[in-house]
Amino acid sequence: MRVARKASREGTRQQNRRLVFQEVFANRGVSRADIARSSGLTRATVSTLVSDLVAEGLVRETGTGPSAGGKPPVLLELVDNAHHLITLDLSGRELRGAVVNLRGNIVATLGGDSPIGQGDAAVDNLVDAIAGLQELASAPILGVGVGSPGVVDPSGLIVDAPNLGWRRRPLGQELTTLSGLPVHVVNDSQAAALAEFSARPDARNLIVVNAGPGIGAGIILEGRLFRGDGFGAGEIGHISIADGPLCTCGNSGCLEAIASAPVILAAIADGIDDFPESDPTEAWQRVRDLQDAGDPNTVDVIERAGTALGTVLAYVVGILDIHQVAIVGEIAAAGPALLESAKVELQRRVLPALAETIVLHLGTGSADLVTRGAATLVLNRELGVA
Ligand SMILES: [Zn+2]
Repeated sequence: MRVARKASREGTRQQNRRLVFQEVFANRGVSRADIARSSGLTRATVSTLVSDLVAEGLVRETGTGPSAGGKPPVLLELVDNAHHLITLDLSGRELRGAVVNLRGNIVATLGGDSPIGQGDAAVDNLVDAIAGLQELASAPILGVGVGSPGVVDPSGLIVDAPNLGWRRRPLGQELTTLSGLPVHVVNDSQAAALAEFSARPDARNLIVVNAGPGIGAGIILEGRLFRGDGFGAGEIGHISIADGPLCTCGNSGCLEAIASAPVILAAIADGIDDFPESDPTEAWQRVRDLQDAGDPNTVDVIERAGTALGTVLAYVVGILDIHQVAIVGEIAAAGPALLESAKVELQRRVLPALAETIVLHLGTGSADLVTRGAATLVLNRELGVA
């Protein structure tokens, strides 16, 4: 009995600490009295918890606010760089690693060529990247957030990620053991959706399609990330829509096998001797030039990819009636024609009343979306904020 009561007192204390920290995190320059008022905790409890947070270096006093008659209140704020976070984005061709502070601002990034690889080699590469980023951090590391393609469960188990050769791989656990840091894993497109959603305070529902080497979507429903019964909500890349080419998942005619970035570039490069296929930035510039010049094959490939994307999006929109659809990832570099083809096909396939209101657009600051989403996950799991 006594043990149980002690445990529950500790639980309450942790909960109260989270409440206080949430108030400081959400409001720049908040007083102890403000926190007591909005959290419903007593002034004494708030004072004790604030003292702890200040002693730990997470919160500091930042001056005084206007007096309401008596002594002017001391204001508190978050120490943005009290901890750093490490993020790894596995959604692109190369590993994107970053050190991020508690406000989600990028402090440092992994330089040089960082291949992701497959299977065991990919895990080794991630461990090396974490070690490299740890050296770039100038504050204690709170945790690591990984945005990975494929189906990811909340424990960090990769249920299936065909492009990385991972099946039932307990990535979160493995990386936690190998790095000695708390590691949290989330699906890359779901991470991107969380980040895009936080940049759009007016949206209630949102689809974010992340299209690079693979294609996935994150779906926000009624203000919350929808993960599905098996955590695979938004795995649109492996919806089969044609008797088309074989896909990495074993099926054929998947969206990914028609409209992923490498597939598009390979189809355009075919027949062009000096196509800069090994350099994606140059390759997409060439694609845009070829489109401007009206090259029939390029125009055709882009239209086919956009149409395939629009076809799959029509199913999602037809079922959920979501008006805001953002396209992010490498494919955004293809230019407006791809987006236009997707829009035309989407509108052709859904009820006109639904079609009129759909806004298909490129995401905000799309290159960092997975990084920001992964950082949000770490803040949420480790500190109960964001
Ligand atoms: Zn597939």
